[in-house]
Amino acid sequence: MTGARQPGIFVITGPSGVGKGTLIAALRERHPELGLSISATTRAPRAGEEDGVAYHFLADAEFDRRLAAGDFVEHANYAGHRYGTLRSELERHTRERKPVVLEIEVEGARQVRDAIPSAVLVFIAPPSQAALRRRLEERGTDAPATIAKRLAVAEEELAARNEFPHVIVNDQLDAAVGALEEIYLRPPPPPTPSR
Ligand code: ADP
Ligand code: 5GP
Repeated sequence: MTGARQPGIFVITGPSGVGKGTLIAALRERHPELGLSISATTRAPRAGEEDGVAYHFLADAEFDRRLAAGDFVEHANYAGHRYGTLRSELERHTRERKPVVLEIEVEGARQVRDAIPSAVLVFIAPPSQAALRRRLEERGTDAPATIAKRLAVAEEELAARNEFPHVIVNDQLDAAVGALEEIYLRPPPPPTPSR
């Protein structure tokens, strides 16, 4: 089933390695109308990551310039690098009345919640901290020191799960994709009447 819902903004948050990217890819396979917001970052590209596809890779000064120009909807420091959602990325999809999904860390998700009250926020949790460590190690994209930093940040992020209206534990992947799809297809609440 595709295209059954109103266009909206979906935010998928949670610690690094929990499976946010995997879940979003699976949801977008089922729902090709769902666009992906390509974030900006100052971290270096990993092997195989293309500029403008995985991320908009920016030098620090360029990130600053765009921040000062008001180009970001949200931005955060994460494990020594900066990440942010460009307004133009959201507009690219919402202009065509298409839904869009953001994959961002917790601080950025809070900022989107405050800036865009209609955004649907979903926190992805791991079945255990040991499973999170294993996934980061087995993904093989990060050096041990980077993994250690990410796990330290994850402790704080996991403590924030109750701030989010939807929490999905990504244990069995199929079940987690199903839970995410259910949220994606849920009709938005009626607008609150203005007085
Ligand atoms: P994130 O985008 O949150 O950093 P990824 O989507 O890159 O996380 O997933 C991290 C690793 O965990 C990947 O190697 C992925 O294949 C694996 N993974 C994702 N979901 C599951 C799951 N439900 N069970 C086991 N491994 C998973
Ligand atoms: P990675 O370096 O693994 O690609 O991403 C590190 C963390 O930054 C992940 O938790 C990811 O979700 C988050 N992230 C990616 N893009 C953005 C963004 O635009 N804004 C914020 N706040 N976080 C982001």
